[in-house]
Amino acid sequence: MAGQVDKDPRAAEREQFDVDELRSRLAATEAALDRAHHRARRASDLTRTAIFELHREEIRFANPAARSLFGSAVPDGLVGTALVDLVHPDDRFRAAEWLGSLTPGEAREEALAIRLLGPEEQHLNVELLAFGIESAGESRVQLFAYDVTERTQAEETLNYQYLHDSLTGLPNRLLFLDRVRQALARMARSGMRVAVFFCDLDRFQIVNDSLGHTMGDRVLAAAATRLQAGLRPADTVARFGGDEFVVLCEITRETGDIAAVAKRILRALSEPFDVDDQLFTFSASIGVTMATNRLVEPEDLIRDAAAAMSQAKARGKGRLEIFDEATRARAVDRLQIESALRLAMEQGELRVYYQPMVSCATGRLVGAEALVRWQHPVHGFILPDSFIPIAEDCGLIISLGDWVLEEACKQAALWEGQLPEGRTLHLSVNLSAHQLHDPELVDRVRQVLPPRLADGKARQVFLGLEVTETTLVRDTEQTADVLERLDQLGVRIGIDDFGTGYSSLSYLKRFPVSSIKIDQSFVAGLDVDPDDRSIVTAVVQLAHNLGLTVVAEGVERPEQLEVLAAIHCDEVQGYLYGRPLPPEVMTTLILTGEVPAVLPPLRDPVASA
Ligand code: C2E
Ligand code: CA
Ligand code: CA
Repeated sequence: MAGQVDKDPRAAEREQFDVDELRSRLAATEAALDRAHHRARRASDLTRTAIFELHREEIRFANPAARSLFGSAVPDGLVGTALVDLVHPDDRFRAAEWLGSLTPGEAREEALAIRLLGPEEQHLNVELLAFGIESAGESRVQLFAYDVTERTQAEETLNYQYLHDSLTGLPNRLLFLDRVRQALARMARSGMRVAVFFCDLDRFQIVNDSLGHTMGDRVLAAAATRLQAGLRPADTVARFGGDEFVVLCEITRETGDIAAVAKRILRALSEPFDVDDQLFTFSASIGVTMATNRLVEPEDLIRDAAAAMSQAKARGKGRLEIFDEATRARAVDRLQIESALRLAMEQGELRVYYQPMVSCATGRLVGAEALVRWQHPVHGFILPDSFIPIAEDCGLIISLGDWVLEEACKQAALWEGQLPEGRTLHLSVNLSAHQLHDPELVDRVRQVLPPRLADGKARQVFLGLEVTETTLVRDTEQTADVLERLDQLGVRIGIDDFGTGYSSLSYLKRFPVSSIKIDQSFVAGLDVDPDDRSIVTAVVQLAHNLGLTVVAEGVERPEQLEVLAAIHCDEVQGYLYGRPLPPEVMTTLILTGEVPAVLPPLRDPVASA
């Protein structure tokens, strides 16, 4: 061929050179690829990320991490297995959807979280990433699997903690609200009615107070287990804290069903609880409300059930109250009293009255109890029983109590200046449990306590604080410490309503108590009921043996006074000697020191106002 003959020899040389060069470049590239491939394999051997390659659905390659992920679950190795066989049955469909088909170079944007079957029938939570690749001459899907089991478990634990009560494992308020919401949404479809029960164990505080919180917690955990066992699986039992349990039920017939559920709740709680070898029995107060339509707010249902529960407590505990309009009205009343009381404190509508305390032996005035009254511009005088419990519930009691204490101390300073020489007076102020557990109490008392008079006269007016038994039986270090510090300030501690609370007397020795006040309920029948008489006699003797002063309250008749004098009760207080009096009236009594003995009952300026 002419062309070949004519060929420039240098050109042929160049061509030859190009081919050689190409060959060597190719070889170098192949070597580099080989190295890269080798490195990739080494990397895939060493990495802790599980890597698979699938052709269609079959595993064609799996690195060591992938093999160890499954361990004994796939003893014969992974290659040749269909991936779906390793996926949790519930996740198979999703996994297949997600994988679909990927052309080489294509990637799945979103990771897929699924469960794989791990060793020993455990599930592995993994996140998958997928890329389309070309490998061994076929198009494959390369999968990267990250084991997130630990993370998922941690998340699940957190999630669980977020929605459950840690003590009992029951759903908490948040989860309960969600369940109510779901039940309400189902209402139209299911034709069922949604009922919320709010239960509170009666007198549960006694366990906490007398045996401590650990024991209290045990009772609550046991109560939770019993409630769950006693109710139907479809019902939700939740704990809202303290001894408050709530139950959500979907019911068909109204009253019959409500009664049946309440009975189940009460039965679950009625067996005695064995705590530290002591048996405790509780009744429960239950309030219930039913959703009338599916648009009610779950929060409102709970609020109404709680209001009905309060009503059950007020009406004597251990009973069921169904929420109705009257209950709503009372709840509103309470709210109104609460806000009116805040205002009353700001606007100076509160007064402190003083009730005389008289020596049984001499008939002379020896002390006074400060009792708060509310002079409402519209409703007139309001007695403490209708607002102190509310103040305690809403926390107002701290500032209210502070105010009474301050007011009484101002009065004490005035009387200190007026008392004839040689006479003393004991001024008692009531202290609620919240105040006793308020860390600032001792400092406040120190601030308001009247200074000893400067002219060297011995102190004549003494401050006493009255606390009820149940407040004290919470035998914590803190209570003992607070009482010790009050004692060091010269404040005397008295036990109020003695005999109505807890029956252990050991706290009388543990705390610096200087007097007890026998509750009115024992004094009431003193002159007619021999049982009352024996109880009061025993109490007086016991108190005297412990070196305590005994006061009897609620003395209304001379006959009661006679008995009290005969059994050597120290002091009496009651309508017989006078109702709580405004400070001006009390001042005249103090100046003379004489309380006209055995008067026909005075008219209460409060009651008659
Ligand atoms: P309490 O401490 O047991 O006070 C005695 C209550 O019995 C007073 O009721 C008093 O007026 C009443 N009383 C006195 N003598 C007789 C009597 O002969 N017969 C009858 N039937 N009752 C008598 P009051 O003033 O209505 O106070 C009721 C409760 O309110 C008090 O019971 C006390 O627990 C609480 N309270 C009153 N003022 C305060 C206060 O300033 N702070 C706190 N935390 N509670 C207070
Ligand atoms: Ca009292
Ligand atoms: Ca009392």
